[in-house]
Amino acid sequence: MSQPNSDLFTRAQQCIPGGVNSPVRAFKGVGGTPVFFEQASGSTLTDSNGKTYIDYVLSWGPMILGHGAEVVRKAVHEQVDKAMSFGAPTELEIEMAEKVCELYPSIEKVRMVNSGTEATMSAIRLARGFTGRDILVKFEGCYHGHADSLLIKAGSGALTLGVPTSPGVPESVAKHTVTLEYNNADDVRACFAELGDKIAAVIVEPIAGNMNCIPPVPGFLETLRECCSESGAVLIFDEVMCGFRAALGGAQEKYGVTADLTTLGKVIGGGMPVGAFGGRADIMDYLAPVGPVYQAGTLSGNPVAMAAGLAALNEISKPGVYEQLNAKTEQLTAGIVALAKEQGIGMVSNHVGSMFGLFFTEAESVSKFSEVQQCDSERFNRFFHGMLDEGVYLAPSSFEAGFMSLAHSEADIDFTLKAAAKVLKNIK
Ligand code: PMP
Repeated sequence: MSQPNSDLFTRAQQCIPGGVNSPVRAFKGVGGTPVFFEQASGSTLTDSNGKTYIDYVLSWGPMILGHGAEVVRKAVHEQVDKAMSFGAPTELEIEMAEKVCELYPSIEKVRMVNSGTEATMSAIRLARGFTGRDILVKFEGCYHGHADSLLIKAGSGALTLGVPTSPGVPESVAKHTVTLEYNNADDVRACFAELGDKIAAVIVEPIAGNMNCIPPVPGFLETLRECCSESGAVLIFDEVMCGFRAALGGAQEKYGVTADLTTLGKVIGGGMPVGAFGGRADIMDYLAPVGPVYQAGTLSGNPVAMAAGLAALNEISKPGVYEQLNAKTEQLTAGIVALAKEQGIGMVSNHVGSMFGLFFTEAESVSKFSEVQQCDSERFNRFFHGMLDEGVYLAPSSFEAGFMSLAHSEADIDFTLKAAAKVLKNIK
């Protein structure tokens, strides 16, 4: 197992809890020492020892153009030279809002925030304020950031670290969150039959990416839409991860089901800390200063972040981008699955656009959280470390999706498949 930067990790642990500023970075799930990075360019990362890796984490999704894309860097430099922050309105924010509304037809108005967590937290408060109801319905294994009402049976790092329901969330808050099984439409109908008129909102990752990658089964999103419309609950699609990634218009474009509110993050910031929530104008106008629901942010709509995000969104709006991303992702995942098969290792892959998951399992398919939990995480850990040694950086947890960027080349995919062939042979 590689121990790439243990001196830095020792030092970091003295002054940062667990040595990291976000838990999954600590390699708790896979064991070993996290890699400390210094530079990134295109599809590659370089660590503090000068070793390079092909990157399929992409800062957990944002870097869809690859690292250091010229258009984004130029936009950032130009903006930094003008101003870094005003805390007052700018035309850039309008341009960003117009762009988001254009790409997501269900978004009539949008507000910018600084992270995905802020986006989901604010969308839920707004949904509760708008409906005058308290209950929030969510799904096991989905992750929507670390706000109190969302850390109940959550996915991603909460799952990797074995605290899907975090201490510190008061029972008085947790009791308003109902957690159902993902991809189980019957569960949803039963819940609405019992609690329908008390449900403020349903929040869902329309393509789950925080229990590895689980696309919605046909009918699941449609059932959510139907139940919410009938009962007056607000349907929130958390597209922080799959937004601008599964397709330019996200899961809503891909599956033709629209949300009342949508949360966005990651790609929308081009690598800067940005989130957004938006949707129906009648709901969004319930926000301060026009409406009574309070939400605010000192750095919200920050001009440097808006410049980076807009540059990225303009770039991915060009023709052919998603066909290219999809084809590369298909080539990579099908290639790895075929190599696993050659070694007699059971593996399933899911991918939607350039978001992908690899599962070590003898099952034919994986579409439920319980099936994800049954996968061989110990074998994943050995695969992860083997690939890391070979110079391929995958997400350090079997509960995280992987990502492809426009900067990944044929040579990168070839290199990755050669590495996978070697590693899979060693871990069979
Ligand atoms: N929602 C989803 C679907 C996410 O994947 C994430 C982060 N991975 C969040 C919300 C929270 O975003 P952030 O980490 O920017 O707070």
